[in-house]
Amino acid sequence: MSHRATTRQISVGDDRVGVVRIGGDAPVSVQTMTAGYTYEIDACVKEINRLHDAGADIVRVAVPERKDTEALPEILSQTNVPIVADVHFHYKRALESVEAGVHKIRLNPGNINDRDQVNAVIDACRERSIPIRVGVNEGSIIERRDKQARAKELGTFFADRRGGHLIALMIAKLEEYMDIFDARDFHDVAISAKSMDPLLVIDVYSEIAARFDYPLHLGVTHAGPRETGTIRSVVALGSLLSRGIGDTIRVSYASDPALEVEDGLEMLYCLGLRNRTGVELIACPTCGRIQVDLFTLVQEVRKTLADAIDVPLKVAVMGCVVNGPGEAEGADVAVFAGDRRGIIYVQGERVANVKEEEILDRLLEACVDLQDRVRRGEATIGHKNVEIVPPDPIGELGSGIKKIQAGDVEQITISAKP
Ligand code: SF4
Repeated sequence: MSHRATTRQISVGDDRVGVVRIGGDAPVSVQTMTAGYTYEIDACVKEINRLHDAGADIVRVAVPERKDTEALPEILSQTNVPIVADVHFHYKRALESVEAGVHKIRLNPGNINDRDQVNAVIDACRERSIPIRVGVNEGSIIERRDKQARAKELGTFFADRRGGHLIALMIAKLEEYMDIFDARDFHDVAISAKSMDPLLVIDVYSEIAARFDYPLHLGVTHAGPRETGTIRSVVALGSLLSRGIGDTIRVSYASDPALEVEDGLEMLYCLGLRNRTGVELIACPTCGRIQVDLFTLVQEVRKTLADAIDVPLKVAVMGCVVNGPGEAEGADVAVFAGDRRGIIYVQGERVANVKEEEILDRLLEACVDLQDRVRRGEATIGHKNVEIVPPDPIGELGSGIKKIQAGDVEQITISAKP
């Protein structure tokens, strides 16, 4: 992991909902956006609270119409997370949102570019100490009518790169726009420049990081459904974050935004940019040696432990004795399967050998017990009590190594895949 790029820091929030800092030495935060209509107050509040519960640090809402900004005071009074108003086309929606008490404004240079209008928003935000995200989007940045002329004007800037003219356009637009903020001496700003092309996202943010010291909001826009959007997001955001670029992220899917939060957090955990707050689940992909219905078991374990455990236990669920002991060695709690049974380990010590249908309950019991002991200061996460060696044999199951060595292979039983 490279050192984080040094950026300015902005603050989003207030005393009531808490303040999320973005940039500088603040941890990388996770944002998402509601999918429903903001003017439907009850549904909007419910969605915001659900996303906050899922782990979102900041939630953005769309305010395309006056009725959306009119709903904001009530929404803000019923939620406990910093709220960003996403403004396009109508600068007055930004002024109304500031008046309503939102914690941040997002402006799109592609559709609000009148200098006086931008100045009016800047002044309103300064008055209330509210930051502004300048969010350039590939889809709305292109000056369609004179795209050819503009591209020509930018010459061969980045011409050797895929989407080079688009990168040049996005940066040129951003520089023009930031001149307005500089002239107003307003620097409570974050920047984003999203595209649906992950490689373009990597290139454009790399260029922006070299040109500006404002905190960067990373995202791949229109990334598609989670199945493919995950890959697009991880390729682009993971690459930038691993190089120290990026201060806050939004993973965006054509799907439930809670999944955006879940995956965004997991990415930050994997990159060591946030401290994990729940279980880290390790599971084998299964193969012809599988001894239980592992796919079902893993999903049950994931759901059950997500509700029950909020300390960062490493839990391994392994399909057989081949890699089971190795993973069990590194995990706080582990189960590996054999002949429709599960052998459960806690920090290297075998604590149970149960039938397949009892694995989930017994594993949960082991995790809750360890969590309780960690909270009481009687156990430490990551501690290992003993070295694990492959059990030989495990009751009737056995890795069978001694039997193989003795030439007694007839006695080795490996169950067929269910
Ligand atoms: S742990 Fe066993 S079942 Fe799972 S992938 Fe490895 S060898 Fe196959």
